[in-house]
Amino acid sequence: MVICKFDKTEDNEVLVITRDNFEKHTNKSKDYIFEVRGKNQYYAYCPSCGNPIVLVNLYVDQDHNEKKPTVYGKHSVPGNPFDLFNVETYKRCLLKSKNKIAFSKHEKHRNKDTAEFFKKFLYENIYEIRRFVSHILGINISQKQFDRFLDEFERSEGYYYKGLDIGNLPYLILFLSNQQNITYQFLNKDSSVELEASIKGSSYFDIKKTEEQKKNEGQIVHKEIISETLKNRVSIYTVFKHHTYDKNQNQHMVYEIYEKLKNPDEKAQETLIVSMKILLDTAYMYNLARKKEEEKKH
Ligand SMILES: [Zn+2]
Repeated sequence: MVICKFDKTEDNEVLVITRDNFEKHTNKSKDYIFEVRGKNQYYAYCPSCGNPIVLVNLYVDQDHNEKKPTVYGKHSVPGNPFDLFNVETYKRCLLKSKNKIAFSKHEKHRNKDTAEFFKKFLYENIYEIRRFVSHILGINISQKQFDRFLDEFERSEGYYYKGLDIGNLPYLILFLSNQQNITYQFLNKDSSVELEASIKGSSYFDIKKTEEQKKNEGQIVHKEIISETLKNRVSIYTVFKHHTYDKNQNQHMVYEIYEKLKNPDEKAQETLIVSMKILLDTAYMYNLARKKEEEKKH
């Protein structure tokens, strides 16, 4: 795993595993560092099951191939020197290597409780998840549009995907959304320059801005030169594909935008406008869940 927390309690912050985060949050306390066979071993907790994890390669700068090795966390074992290890919660942990299954494999389980857990989580955080999905897209998704994403998600039995955990839920929604038309949607304030430039560079679409709108804002509209008849035959849509894990255990997906021209003979002609490899931010949802839990307590 690439994320961890340094306190077992529910409401502790989930962080990306780095040397800086380790030092900042543990102050290099001996409570987190143990000598095992003459070497230091560094510990933290799994954000999903709360069990101890070992931080691998945290202080290794070069391996025998003189490359900087990957820093990651792996579940510890019962009897480790750091803290109690609960085998039962570990068995169900979604961050177990065995459960790291790329969405692209479309493997599903049949556990109703797990599916119910994700469904409840999704609908309890629906507003925040829509906002995060908009952030990933760089496009401000309306509730109506988001409902279409959710319909696709239900039809594809998203809750039953084996590789699903809280951290990658918004990405699975996008992965299963198939082709989503984004004509007349608005760009998000934090959208990338690349996205805006790509849409502007398309054959049929443009970004319309009012005087006050700055960089990375505006609405996706047809280019002014497009005739009314042609408008009904062209569309612009998003596609998410190729969910993978790299050797550093980071998750990636490919985000593409196409424009489509429907010819009078009904044959569609698709053109790729932009293809972006994105790195999944999996700590975001865990922290959102944590904040919600904290709010409930107050
Ligand atoms: Zn775990």
